[in-house]
Amino acid sequence: MFDVIVAGGGPTGLMLASELRLHGVRVLVLERETEPVPYVRALGLHARSIEVLDQRGMLDRFLALGQRYPAGGFFAGIAKPAPERLDTAHPYVLGIPQTTTDRLLAEHATEVGTEIRRGCELVGLRQDDSGVTAELADGTQLRSRYLVGCDGGRSTVRKLLGVGFPGEPSRVETLLGEMEVTAPPETVTAVVTEVRKTEKRFGLGPIGDGVYRVVVPAAGVAEDRSTPPTLEEFSQQLRIYAGTDFGVHSPRWLSRFGDATRLAERYRVGRVLLAGDAAHIHPPTGGQGLNLGIQDAFNLGWKLAAEIDGWAPQGLLDSYHTERHPVAADVLDNTRAQMELLSTEPGPQAVRRLLAELLAFDDVNRYLTEKIIAVGIRYDFGEGHELLGRRMRDLRLQQGRLYELTHAGRGLLLDQTGRLSVAGWADRVDHVVDSSTELDVPAVLLRPDGHVAWVGDDQADLLSQLPRWFGAARDDPGTSPAG
Ligand SMILES: Cc1cc2nc3c(=O)[nH]c(=O)nc-3n(C[C@H](O)[C@H](O)[C@H](O)COP(=O)(O)OP(=O)(O)OC[C@H]3O[C@@H](n4cnc5c(N)ncnc54)[C@H](O)[C@@H]3O)c2cc1C
Repeated sequence: MFDVIVAGGGPTGLMLASELRLHGVRVLVLERETEPVPYVRALGLHARSIEVLDQRGMLDRFLALGQRYPAGGFFAGIAKPAPERLDTAHPYVLGIPQTTTDRLLAEHATEVGTEIRRGCELVGLRQDDSGVTAELADGTQLRSRYLVGCDGGRSTVRKLLGVGFPGEPSRVETLLGEMEVTAPPETVTAVVTEVRKTEKRFGLGPIGDGVYRVVVPAAGVAEDRSTPPTLEEFSQQLRIYAGTDFGVHSPRWLSRFGDATRLAERYRVGRVLLAGDAAHIHPPTGGQGLNLGIQDAFNLGWKLAAEIDGWAPQGLLDSYHTERHPVAADVLDNTRAQMELLSTEPGPQAVRRLLAELLAFDDVNRYLTEKIIAVGIRYDFGEGHELLGRRMRDLRLQQGRLYELTHAGRGLLLDQTGRLSVAGWADRVDHVVDSSTELDVPAVLLRPDGHVAWVGDDQADLLSQLPRWFGAARDDPGTSPAG
């Protein structure tokens, strides 16, 4: 009997497993593939995911293997410099292939005690009042208190639950692969520059050792996308779009992806939840899907752990859907808009030129960039201070950095007054008395995911909000604040 079975060992499932382990939850990750796949889908991490990794002390290993790029030009690929004064201590994009991200997340999840079983495909599930029974392809049955479907866009879990997945099917398809070319690099660069003036879904970029990452529109939409394209299909499409196939040969891997855009109607059915691509799919424009999945996991992990530990207040687990569903809806909308702007039709091209003009205004550039990098998200916690519902950026404190104090994934009262108390919740909430020139409010209560749950200096007011996020007070000997 496990507390949680996570179906799918992609970035979402692995991040969720690590979050659950922080709170001692017994978690099993079931992964269908026997080995990690070689396909590199995502190429980078945006600021909010970088922050999330920093909040859990995992960032250094990603920084060591990634490369920092300016966070500009991410909206529909409209070339613009990064806006000034982004609201984050990490105003860059971390270029890192998804295969590396997946490996680092798996290593971390294992280090903190997650059991990952490869070659295990979930094919059935049923739930009752006390738990969920998962059935694997080999007939094995496993039991857990909760199950989370992190099993990607074609999610078996979502289908077994019968959760609707409304949206639009793929209208266009793109071929993506890694291969060698015989054309000299300067020819490749010159031709690609020319073709990209009109066709944005096209590119050949060197990734080392003479290998290129090749992106080119497909001839149509394949009926069975699980069948990889052939090298001949790449050659043919490259000749159509560029007049040459660059002498492509020796493919490392070949794949295709569509632009279907869909959002699960519900993120929770009883004891089963959905996260990541299992809950939402959209074209990769702007590079948001993996980031969104990591951030889903970050929102869900502590809530599910609280439910299992028995202190979750009424409605906490349901707030996962309430908070994350609108965030995904917004990402779907911005990718729909970006796809329109990538169209070669005259109308969308005109709108693209107009938007390029508007992006010269730093406020417009910052607004759209913060949407993509997900630092502008504000959950609806009701009326209140402008910080309420937003995630708190990293701050310099007298005793270090704020994010260094959040590695354990607990709530945190950052108190500049020294007069407040979390007695009764000290087993769930840390109390740090410290001041920061970067924080201009007396105190903030942060949830384990770093979102601001309360702002103020009044103890009675604080006491009215602690139970909303951290459940009932428990007898404890009282706390003396750190700091
Ligand atoms: C071309 C392309 C480029 C992209 N670029 C970016 C980018 O730059 N930035 C970005 O943020 N996102 C990008 N994305 C999106 C990103 O790759 C996905 O959003 C991300 O992988 C989703 O992670 P996930 O863990 O939710 O799902 P997945 O990565 O799909 O993982 C799901 C896992 O579940 C396993 N599984 C499936 N069914 C079962 C089952 N029944 N039982 C057990 N295991 C199962 C699968 O084997 C898989 O390992 C891109 C996508 C594409 C196609």
